[in-house]
Amino acid sequence: MNKDSGIKWLFLDLNSYFASVEQQENPALRGKPVAVVPADTDYTCAIAASYEAKAYGIKTGTMIGEAKKMCPNLHCVVAQHRPYVEYHNRIIEEVGKHIPINKICSIDELSSRLPPSKRNIESAQIIATKIKTGIQQNIGSHIKCSIGVAPNSLLAKIACDMKKPDGLTFISQEDLPGPLLGLNLTDIPGIGFNMHKRLNKSGIYTMKDLWNTDPKHARKIWNNVQGERLWYWLHGYDFEPPETKPSMIGHSRVLDPEKRDYNSAQHMARQLLLKAVYRLHNHTLIAQHLYFSAHIKNVGRWNKGINIYATDNIFFLLEQLDDIWNMMRLDLHKNCSNITMLKFKKISISLHGLTHKEDSTKDLFLHNINDSSCKKALREQNLFAAMKKLQNKYKSDVVTLGLPPKTNSGDIGTKIAFSRVPDIEEFWSE
Ligand SMILES: [Mg+2]
Repeated sequence: MNKDSGIKWLFLDLNSYFASVEQQENPALRGKPVAVVPADTDYTCAIAASYEAKAYGIKTGTMIGEAKKMCPNLHCVVAQHRPYVEYHNRIIEEVGKHIPINKICSIDELSSRLPPSKRNIESAQIIATKIKTGIQQNIGSHIKCSIGVAPNSLLAKIACDMKKPDGLTFISQEDLPGPLLGLNLTDIPGIGFNMHKRLNKSGIYTMKDLWNTDPKHARKIWNNVQGERLWYWLHGYDFEPPETKPSMIGHSRVLDPEKRDYNSAQHMARQLLLKAVYRLHNHTLIAQHLYFSAHIKNVGRWNKGINIYATDNIFFLLEQLDDIWNMMRLDLHKNCSNITMLKFKKISISLHGLTHKEDSTKDLFLHNINDSSCKKALREQNLFAAMKKLQNKYKSDVVTLGLPPKTNSGDIGTKIAFSRVPDIEEFWSE
């Protein structure tokens, strides 16, 4: 662990990101109160609000029925996830021109460990200005960001949150704990409703209390090492937690009402598996467990998970999925004479038991290069690599496996998660 007076990290957060992209794309929305919603109904909540809407007290999570009472002129826009990911990719490219990016934290947040020669306020100020100007000029004048600079990435994020929109805030080691003492405990990333209650129970009510507690005590309150880490980060230490990998990769899809027949459902299952395998490849992971579930009208949920040899081979996984599908067909046959009449409401696919490819022992099928199954596996690997290449080149599903069913939104199984940015390939289905 390393503690000195220098600032080391820059954290960037895009302001009201989804709403800003909407305003950038549609000039008629600029300067207006905008709420981005998942569906066109009053019985949903805002997933983003423009600053004009925030002035009325509308924020992420506000119910739209309520929001319209707070602001009768509110413009509700149904989220279009594809442009959010496209803007995200362009912004990452722009920021990358000015600093190395260490972590893309979410669709609208990233952090950068500043190069040693730039770890001073003057240099960081120049970099932050270049990033802001670059985004304004090359991405869009309505895309704004706040930037925080501090000794570690948690403090940089806290600094970033202190001024929105369009802020630039520094916290240096010598300032501590000054700027933190005015915050509420729940302003700290990692302290939510339940943790706040636990802190109160342990006699910690203010940031000053938290600052003055013992790091081992923090660990005890959290009941894990995260509490101790947080304490050291708040005190300005710079260290990275051990890298974690996703525990599962999965996709699910509620089928469009006109695409709920048996064949469309099977095609959808295959497409969702293909998407999951693309992500598996992007993380250089292999999976040891395949799980499938289907919600069927008047039948309920049918699900099955199977253990497989560790693989990222799409053709092998598709064969396994076909086996599962056949098991389901036989099962359904017991109670239903004509399974083609069944209506599939939702299909889910997930891959579990993930390990890094380099950590695993070599693929069993690739041990003997002369073996015919090995040659087949190699051919399949090459074919999949060629498919990915074509996708990258043409930015669309030019090559796919099985017939992709058309859906109303066009995007199969992909939705925006704040903690995970979908790969743009996940939107390639039209
Ligand atoms: Mg944001």
